[in-house]
Amino acid sequence: MNDPTALVAPDSAPGAAAAAPLPPPEAATPAMAQYLDLKRQHADCLLFYRMGDFYELFFEDAVKAAAALDIQLTKRGRHEGGDIPMCGVPVHAAEAYLSRLIRQGFRVAVCEQMEELAEAKKRGSKAGIRRAVVRIVTPGTITEEGLLDARRNNYLAALAEAQGELALAWLELSTGAFRLQPVAAPALAAALARIEPGELLVPERLVQRPDFFELLQERKSALTPLPSARFDSENGRKRLEALFAVRALDAFGSFARAELAAGGALVDYVALTQQGRVPLLQPPRRLAADAVMEIDAATRRNLELTQTLTGERKGSLLSAIDRTITGAGARLLGEQLAAPLTDPAAINARLDAVGFLAEDERLRDALRQVLRRCPDIERAMARLALARGGPRDLAALRDTLGETAGLRRLLGDAAAEAKPMLMLGAERDLGEHAAFVERLRRALGPELPLITRDGGFIAPGYSAELDELRLLRDESRRMVANLQARYAAETGVASLKIRHNNVLGYYIEVTPVHAEKLRQGFINRQSMANAMRFSTVELGELESKIASAADRAVALELKFFDDLVGEAKTRSAEVAGAATALARLDVAAALAELAVTERYCRPAVDDSLAFAVAGGRHPVVEAALRAGNGGVFVGNDCDLTEGQRLWLLTGPNMAGKSTFLRQNALIAILAQAGSYVPAERARIGVVDRLFSRVGAADDLARGRSTFMVEMVETGAILNQASARALVILDEIGRGTATFDGLSIAWATVEHLHDVNRCRALFATHYHELTALAAKLQHLACFTMRVKEWQGDVVFLHEVAAGAADRSYGIHVAKLAGLPPAVVGRAEEVLAVLEKGEQGGALTRLADDLPLFSAARPQAREPKPDPLAQTLGAIEPDALSPRDALELIYKLKGLTKS
Ligand code: ADP
Repeated sequence: MNDPTALVAPDSAPGAAAAAPLPPPEAATPAMAQYLDLKRQHADCLLFYRMGDFYELFFEDAVKAAAALDIQLTKRGRHEGGDIPMCGVPVHAAEAYLSRLIRQGFRVAVCEQMEELAEAKKRGSKAGIRRAVVRIVTPGTITEEGLLDARRNNYLAALAEAQGELALAWLELSTGAFRLQPVAAPALAAALARIEPGELLVPERLVQRPDFFELLQERKSALTPLPSARFDSENGRKRLEALFAVRALDAFGSFARAELAAGGALVDYVALTQQGRVPLLQPPRRLAADAVMEIDAATRRNLELTQTLTGERKGSLLSAIDRTITGAGARLLGEQLAAPLTDPAAINARLDAVGFLAEDERLRDALRQVLRRCPDIERAMARLALARGGPRDLAALRDTLGETAGLRRLLGDAAAEAKPMLMLGAERDLGEHAAFVERLRRALGPELPLITRDGGFIAPGYSAELDELRLLRDESRRMVANLQARYAAETGVASLKIRHNNVLGYYIEVTPVHAEKLRQGFINRQSMANAMRFSTVELGELESKIASAADRAVALELKFFDDLVGEAKTRSAEVAGAATALARLDVAAALAELAVTERYCRPAVDDSLAFAVAGGRHPVVEAALRAGNGGVFVGNDCDLTEGQRLWLLTGPNMAGKSTFLRQNALIAILAQAGSYVPAERARIGVVDRLFSRVGAADDLARGRSTFMVEMVETGAILNQASARALVILDEIGRGTATFDGLSIAWATVEHLHDVNRCRALFATHYHELTALAAKLQHLACFTMRVKEWQGDVVFLHEVAAGAADRSYGIHVAKLAGLPPAVVGRAEEVLAVLEKGEQGGALTRLADDLPLFSAARPQAREPKPDPLAQTLGAIEPDALSPRDALELIYKLKGLTKS
C-alpha cells in the first residue's frame, strides 16, 4: 500500500456507482492499464497484485476475496466516477491467505514487481514499476510446506481421450513423481478414486459429454476444464520428449496416444502455471491397466481406507497402520495402500523387506532412529527447482543426505545372506553425497532465515571475500558507535544518540533543549516536539560505506545460494534416488514395526484363487476396542476355497457380521499392498477387483434413496465381478419391503454363485436364505454365535458353521432402549407371525403374503396415567396454600407408585 506508483488518478467526478466490473483500458492511468492488462490475461484467477509490502486485489476480485477471507473491503482511488473496491494481504502472511483461497476453489495469479522503483525511475519519470505474473497457484500445483499436508500426496491429474481410448496422467509437483495409465471407461471412476487428485485437467469436449457428466460432476471442485486442443497426442509426445531430453519416449515404456495426450497436457499446464519454470519431474512411469487392485469409489469410502466417512484421517485403516516416521514415508504408505498390487512377485518383494526388518529388531530400531533426523528432501528439492526454496531447504538436503552414508553402512553390516532385493536396491539408491554434503555443511550458517532475500545464512569462514565485507560492515557499525561517543564528548550532550531508520538512514538525535549545542558541521534534518535530528558529512560517509558493504555481502550470499541450488539441481537424479530409497526403507521398517507390535503375520500371496485367513482381525475395530477398554477382539477364520467360495453369514444385528466382512476385505488390501496382516495365518490368491456393498448412506446429493444406491452398487457387482474378484455384500435388500428384499437377496446369491463364480461373503438377516445351501454347491452357511442368558442375548463375536434360526432384532431393540411397552408388543406380534409361518415352505413364500394383513396388530388403548389425571383435576385458583402443599405430597407419592 505504500507503493508510490499511483494506481488510479484521483477522480473527483460526482455520482459514485457501486462499480465493480473492469473498466475499459483506454480510460486508465498507466498503472491501471498494466493492472487491467494482466487481469485480462488471467481472467479466471484472482490477481494478487504486488504493491510494496502487500498483494492487493481490485474490483470484483477484491469483493470475492474479502468475502472469502473475511478481511476488510476498502476502496482505493476512483475510476470513471466510481470507487474501486480493494483489499490487500501482507506479503509476509500471504501463504496463509493463499491456502484459504485455494481450499475454497479459487485460482490465484501472483503478480510481482520485477524491479525496484529506482530502476523504473531511471527509465523515465513517468514509468511505472514493471510487474509480471510469476505463477498461477492452483490446487494441484502447490509446493509450499504451509499449504501442503506433509503426510499426503497432492496430485495434479489429466484425463485425455484419443482414438476412443482413455488415459490418465498424474504427477506430484512437490516430489516430481509422474505416472501414466490407460483406463477403460468403466474403470475410470475407480482409478480417480484411487488417485484422488487435488486438481483434474479435462478437455472441454469431455466435460460436455453426457456419459462423463455424472463422474466429473462428482469431482467438480477439483475440475479444471481446458481447451481440447491442449490434449493433442502428437504435441504431447513432443513435449515429453523435449522435457526429458530424449529422442523417443520408448525408453520409458510404450505409450498409447491417449496417454501421451494426457501426459503432454499435464506438462503443458505445469509450464503455464509456473510461468516457464520447469519442475524436476521423474521420467513417466507407466502403470498397466491391471497392475493394481481395482477398488471403486464407494468401496474405498465405506471401507474407510485412507479417510473415514466423515473425511478424517484418524479412524481410517491408514491411520491405524501408519508407523512411518518421515513425511515421504507416510506419503508412500498412503500410495501403496490406495493401490494394492496384483503381481505376486512384486507383492512378495515388498513382504520380503518387511519380514527382514521384522526379524532384525536392532537394525530396524537403528534405521528408524536415523529416519527421525531426516527432513523432507523431496519437497525441499522441488521448491529449490522452482526457485521457491530458501536456505532451510538446502539445510534439509544437508541433513538428510548427510545421513545416507551412515545408513548405507548400517544396511551393509546387516546379515548379508538372503538380503531382500528391495533392501539391496535401497542401499544402492541411497547414493554417494559426501562432497556435496561437506560443501553444504561448510556453506550454511548455524541459524537460517526463512527467506533468502536478506542474507545472513552463509557461514563465516566459507568465503574470505564475504567475511571481509561483513567485517567492513560491522567495523563501520562500530565506528558509528565511536562517533556517537566522540560527538557526545565534543558537544557536551551526554544523551546524544546516533540512530537509524528507513527514511533518514543514520542520524544524530538530541532533545530540543540541547539542539543549540550542535553547531558547526551539524545539519538539521528533522525537528520534532521531543527530538531534533541532525546529520554530518562524516556520518553520511560512514553510512554509505556500511550500506555498500552490507549490499555487497547480501549480493554475494545470494550468489552462493544460487551456486548451491545449481549444484543441487545437477544432482537431482541422485537426490531423488536417495529420497525414494529413504521413503521405501521408512515404509518397510514401519510395516515391520506394525507387524511386531500388533502381532500381524506374513500372508502367503500367490496367483491361486485361495482365500484362507485364520484368526483374522479388524485392525481399526481392534484398536478402538483396546483404546476404549471394550475388551479383546475375537479373531475369526475365513476360508473361501472351492466348495465354499460363497459364504452366507447370518446372525443378529450387532453380532459382528459387518466387522467380519470388512476385516477380510482389509486383509486382502493390506496383503496386496505389501503389508503383514492382522491374522494368525493367511493365504491369499491375488484379488483383481474388490467390490463391496456395505453401509447404507442416502446419497441425497445425487437424488438417490438408500435403496437406489444399494441397487446401483449391487448391479455393478453382478455385472462386473469375475472369478478373481472378492465381493462383500452386507444386508442386501434391507431398504425395501421384506419379501421384495428377500427375493432380491435370493436372486443375488444365485447369480454370484452361478455366474460371477467369485469369492464372496454375503451377510444377511434373512435366515430363510440358508435354504439355498442345499441347492448351491459352493455355498456354505456360517453364523455369528450368540448366547441367550437369563432372557438376554450375549454376542460372542464368533463365526461358526451353521445358520441363525432367528434374528434377535427385538433383543437389540431392547438393548437400544426402546420403551418396554413397544418391546413387549413387538414380541407378541412376532409370536403371531412365527406361528403363521410354520409349515409354510420357503418355496411357497408368496403364498404367505396374506399373513401380514391377518396379523396386523391393533393399536392398544393406552392405560390412564394417574399423575396426569390428578394434575388435570387441579384448579389452581381454588387452592389454599395448605391444600397446595398437600397436593405436592400427593403428586410426589404418585410418581413413586
Ligand atoms: P453387525 O454387522 O452384525 O450388526 P457389527 O459388525 O457392526 O455387527 O459389530 C458390532 C460391534 O460389535 C462392533 O462395533 C464391535 O464393537 C463389536 N465386534 C464386532 N466384531 C467383533 C469381534 N470379532 N470381537 C470383538 N468385538 C467385535
